[in-house]
Amino acid sequence: MTELPAGSVIGILGGGQLGRMLSVAASRLGYRTHIYEPGAAPAGDVAHAVTTAPYEDEAALRSFAQSVDVITYEFENVPTAALDLLESIRPIRPNRRALAVSQDRLTEKDFLSEIGLRTAPYRNVETEADLPQALADLGAPAILKTRRMGYDGKGQIRFADTAQRDWTGAPSVLEGFVAFSAEVSVIVARGADGQVAAFDPGLNVHREGILRTTTVPCGLSNTLLMDAVLIAAKIVNALDYVGVMGVELFVTPGGLIVNEVAPRVHNSGHWTQAGCAVDQFEQHIRAVAGLPLGDGQRYADVEMENLIGDDIDRVPALLKQPRTQVHLYGKGAARPGRKMGHVNRVL
Ligand code: AMP
Repeated sequence: MTELPAGSVIGILGGGQLGRMLSVAASRLGYRTHIYEPGAAPAGDVAHAVTTAPYEDEAALRSFAQSVDVITYEFENVPTAALDLLESIRPIRPNRRALAVSQDRLTEKDFLSEIGLRTAPYRNVETEADLPQALADLGAPAILKTRRMGYDGKGQIRFADTAQRDWTGAPSVLEGFVAFSAEVSVIVARGADGQVAAFDPGLNVHREGILRTTTVPCGLSNTLLMDAVLIAAKIVNALDYVGVMGVELFVTPGGLIVNEVAPRVHNSGHWTQAGCAVDQFEQHIRAVAGLPLGDGQRYADVEMENLIGDDIDRVPALLKQPRTQVHLYGKGAARPGRKMGHVNRVL
């Protein structure tokens, strides 16, 4: 792949905060971005162009694709038909296989197992009728997750015992409960030339299913740190991936277990803005533009904290704190659970 010339336009599917920070990174490298987003687009404030249209609007998709040089995404649940149309006009990076794997939890777990990585024990629960057998196989506690469109713990039901009967309403997977001591994630990048660079694994703390903080260093032993990076590298190599990926891992006494992968920049990688010379957003733009990757070396200890809902009221105080970067997403109303911004504290 040749390098994308300066002034080229990178199309981004999805106009949330990830698209916003990708757009800023792209502009620093001399590129422009065009956002495609059916709803409100905080990324639009800092982009060259915005298309506001549903993913079913073929004419809008076609003219969007024709106006850009390459297409990437900050949202992995773009409908297949839209992707087929876009890909017939411009290349999509990361590739379709990465999207297919991450759009469906069953496909994802099957893929991870095929390449020899450990996941939680799982069963396909295509319909409600499959549930009793799956619960009998895996035992309780267990978690039922919709195969598609789940995020931030949405579409999930916990089963405390095998006699419990609940249904998500859609094809699902049942996962055996993993007794983990910590959740960590690796943000890994693979360039168009196959070069791989990983950032230091971060320790993630969730509340009510939503990421609250990521801290680096994450406190893992050197052996587990190495394992985490090797797992992430194996995944991107197996997918012939180009771009940044977030790989979420459970730490257990028996080693690391892959929870899920996100084929995009990831909330748990925001700390790289304060800890690295090249952050995850620039790294992703470099990869999709065919530029050499930056190094993933970490130069500081950092804690990233998400500003969720009313946390936004703390911004005046946060602005007065030393060694603190404040990032605001330019969203309107602060609803409970809505990610409004984040801070990176250099420790
Ligand atoms: P997910 O949407 O799959 O990332 O799940 C959201 C959160 O639920 C994870 O970050 C974990 O804290 C928890 N969780 C998910 N799957 C499991 C599992 N198999 N065992 C234990 N905890 C889990």
